[in-house]
Amino acid sequence: MDLLYRSTRDSHVQVSASQAILQGLSVDGGLFVPTEIPALHVSVEELAEMTYQETAYAVMSRFLTDFTEEELKSCIQNAYDSKFDIEEIAPLVKADGAYFLELFHGPTIAFKDMALSILPHLLTTAAKKNHVKNEIVILTATSGDTGKAALAGFADVPGTRIIVFYPKNGVSPIQEKQMVTQKGKNTLVVGIHGNFDDAQTGVKSIFGDKALKTEMEASGFQFSSANSINIGRLVPQIVYYVYAYAKLYANGEIEKDEKINVVVPTGNFGNILAAFYAKQMGLPIHKLICASNDNKVLYDFFKTGRYDRNREFILTSSPSMDILISSNLERLIYQIAGCDAEMDKKLMKDLTLEGVYEIPSSMKEQLSDFYGNYAAEKETADTIRALYESSGYVIDTHTAVAADVYKKYQAETGDMAKTVIASTASPFKFTRSVMNAIDEKYDAMGDFELVDELSSLGQVQVPEAINEIRNAKVLHDMVIDKSGMKAVVKDFLGM
Ligand SMILES: *Cc1c(COP(=O)(O)O)cnc(C)c1O
Repeated sequence: MDLLYRSTRDSHVQVSASQAILQGLSVDGGLFVPTEIPALHVSVEELAEMTYQETAYAVMSRFLTDFTEEELKSCIQNAYDSKFDIEEIAPLVKADGAYFLELFHGPTIAFKDMALSILPHLLTTAAKKNHVKNEIVILTATSGDTGKAALAGFADVPGTRIIVFYPKNGVSPIQEKQMVTQKGKNTLVVGIHGNFDDAQTGVKSIFGDKALKTEMEASGFQFSSANSINIGRLVPQIVYYVYAYAKLYANGEIEKDEKINVVVPTGNFGNILAAFYAKQMGLPIHKLICASNDNKVLYDFFKTGRYDRNREFILTSSPSMDILISSNLERLIYQIAGCDAEMDKKLMKDLTLEGVYEIPSSMKEQLSDFYGNYAAEKETADTIRALYESSGYVIDTHTAVAADVYKKYQAETGDMAKTVIASTASPFKFTRSVMNAIDEKYDAMGDFELVDELSSLGQVQVPEAINEIRNAKVLHDMVIDKSGMKAVVKDFLGM
């Protein structure tokens, strides 16, 4: 029997995995969730012997049941290949008593590559399976990393076009340079005056525009999403938690069935939700530790049961987590509401209209798998410096938020269980913030000078992704008001 996917906002909607991937978002504005979380059907002893690609098949085949073995294996082989600069794909590094799961060895040196290197293959396979004739238009809002990873994945993929909107002043200089130098005839990158939430809200409203949808259909186009609301991004992210657990076991770091904690620097709640799904599949995870920066909506939510986005949006040194509306939280809300679509819909309506919702205590009680905390800017910088000074290991700002929150968790609970920290970006992607954290004297240096300095200080080679953009030409220079997003889309499609 195929595993089906339901909308969080309408229980009558049921689609196959490939249809859920194609649609991205349900027509009612809800997110697709599997009707049940399948169990892992392989033992840790078997997993311990597997490569990343084999683990990916073991996990993903449980979720994407309408893909044939041949189709799924081909997607996996095309995604996790020499685009990654290390054969293990996601290595674990032990430092200061924790295990850093490095998810940044892909083409754009952030963890988004883990899912976005496979999404284009899943999507084009899904299109074929469902006899889609339209060209697929990927529309994406980015806080910096998704945009580049999606561009890299979809550039020049036949039958697709990709449009990326980013907040003009809300991404790091390297992130921006990576995006605006993107090649590929089917790509468009646009800066908007506004923050990430403005970009994401704009994209959601274009998705929900029924008249535009009809017009697109007539011109031979249909939208899909590369944002983490797409189930085709979430499922590949479950893989590396299973892989990390199996590697800890294989290396004798943990006993069979020993529970570990997972710390995830969180923005849109996609990565940590994948860890939650891994736990529900049966992976022995104790706490899911949700780390936020100064935009600590999630910390407040876990503490009080009240989600309140009505607050100042703070630009931090971890821009990929500068988010006040964590879209994927809706999938958790739906689940703890007992898969009650009406309840979910009401809460999400409150969020849209009032910017706030509050869950009843019966739902709040089900959040005990999670622990939330946050790191202020100074704490993030102090964590980078302290870890570098004690171990020589240099981490990026997002990972540092997680490492700081982990310290707080340990101090509060005394829990000494082995812990994996999701290391979501290479320090080379946020060189200036990282180097300033280590020593303020670096602030006087240029961006690429700093790159070389970081390379010698951390004794790591400059990643190819950085060398590539040193002298690359800017190919996208459009900056618009958020009210102009729809017009830009139509123009790019020649409509
Ligand atoms: C996207 C991103 C995050 C946040 O991940 P979510 O899945 O949105 O919670 C954290 N760190 C980095 C470097 C990212 O690019």
